[in-house]
Amino acid sequence: MTYQVLARKWRPRTFATLVGQEHVVKALTHALESQRLHHAYLLTGTRGVGKTTLARILAKAINCETGITPTPCGKCSACAEIDAGRFIDLIEVDAATNTRVDEMRQLLDNAVYAPTRGRFKVYVIDEVHMLSNSAFNAMLKTLEEPPEHIKFILATTDPQKIPVTVLSRCLQFNLKQMTASAIAAHLERVLKDEGVPAEPAGLRLVAHAARGSMRDALSLVDQAIAYSSANVTEASIRGMLGTVDTGDLFELLDAVTRRDAAAALAVADAMEARSLSFDLALAELARVLHRIALAQTAPDALPEDTPERERVSALAKALDQEDVQLYYEIVLRARPDLPLAPDEYAGFTMAIMRMLAFAPEAPGTRSDGAATPRSAPAAPAAPEPIAPRAAKFDGDWPGVARVLKITGAAKQLAERSELIAFTGDGFELAVPPESRALADRGYVDRLKAALADHFGRPLGVTVKVAAVNGRTAAAVAEGERNVRTAEANAQIEADPFVRELVIGLDATIESVKPVEQGTGS
Ligand SMILES: [Zn+2]
Repeated sequence: MTYQVLARKWRPRTFATLVGQEHVVKALTHALESQRLHHAYLLTGTRGVGKTTLARILAKAINCETGITPTPCGKCSACAEIDAGRFIDLIEVDAATNTRVDEMRQLLDNAVYAPTRGRFKVYVIDEVHMLSNSAFNAMLKTLEEPPEHIKFILATTDPQKIPVTVLSRCLQFNLKQMTASAIAAHLERVLKDEGVPAEPAGLRLVAHAARGSMRDALSLVDQAIAYSSANVTEASIRGMLGTVDTGDLFELLDAVTRRDAAAALAVADAMEARSLSFDLALAELARVLHRIALAQTAPDALPEDTPERERVSALAKALDQEDVQLYYEIVLRARPDLPLAPDEYAGFTMAIMRMLAFAPEAPGTRSDGAATPRSAPAAPAAPEPIAPRAAKFDGDWPGVARVLKITGAAKQLAERSELIAFTGDGFELAVPPESRALADRGYVDRLKAALADHFGRPLGVTVKVAAVNGRTAAAVAEGERNVRTAEANAQIEADPFVRELVIGLDATIESVKPVEQGTGS
């Protein structure tokens, strides 16, 4: 018996079996039922979400010998040949390898001829954004006056690179990245059907590693079956993926929370001994910190199936929100720096030591020389309630400015100023000329008081008027706002209803580009 890889065997052949794309399926079903067909469809979405699979199902839906239907029979010669990838009127082109204009032109020259077998000649152009401009122009001519028997199904991971002249002639559908829990549930069904025993926790790991791609998830399961001799356990999946046991990461965070440096480093050593990927460990650590932050700010948003839910909740109570934010940032920044570190172990343990160095101090343990983080990790100390917060300055002035308990103009002074120097006893700040009013003595004194409160000791503040370079809390916040706006725009654009409106009304959605963090403001 030949073994067929799961991703191929389980490739959906009907709209009904297409997992996680209900919104697209609903719209297409409706259009097919009412026989309203467009000349061109654009399917967008990240790799592996099922764009070409959907294109093939659509090709069957319009070519099935039983008639145009959302439920193609799967049995007639058109359906069978499309499933087998040898239907003469289905022309699949990978634009990544056919970008030349003469290839495109030749392809489109043939478009004028009527289909040989089917009702429609269907051109599926994958990664269409890779076409050259002249190839796009050649296609545009056909799109402008398409012969009745032609359908285009364009697929892309990067719709922004498609000329708007082409976009405006397509009905666009955005395929969603599948959630890890939807993927895990599907994998469970597949393996049950295949008669392969599998631990749900292991499948969840696969689902996370696949990052929204069902195809990747199924390929990983194929590997796991081979790797574990057909007994897919959590341990075997961890071994295969090189993923860290989240238990290790919780132990590490527990140690950081207790300020037990020795215990935290021992966890890293144990990970090193098992040659786990520290890059994946940092990614997983960021994921755990994100869950902790969620548990702190919006406990209801924490999904029911969150792994290690109780430990997440415990850490959410033990840590304060600012620390979680700080740890998250340290972990995120450590990841791109990993290749620059002497080795992955050094990069990973430096991140842990940064977390330890900037952790809040228990009262009475304040050391002098606040500018330099403790060089040696502190001895394990019993967890103590952290009374008035006393922090160390880690060089991140915008970060401090954001959290100071301060209002009004003094807050603006904190947020619009840039750090020139920190001497250990005080801050030298600069405000840009347009904000010179903030350098007022009264505001400076209020800022001083807030800093003393935050750091638990008196600190000086001098403010001068000078050009700033953009390292201010206000500039950082603006950058974040732009990212959020861009994300919101992407969500709006992804909404099929909005898309249809945009296409129908020939309107455009204004998108906001992230601004350059320039000098001045
Ligand atoms: Zn059929």
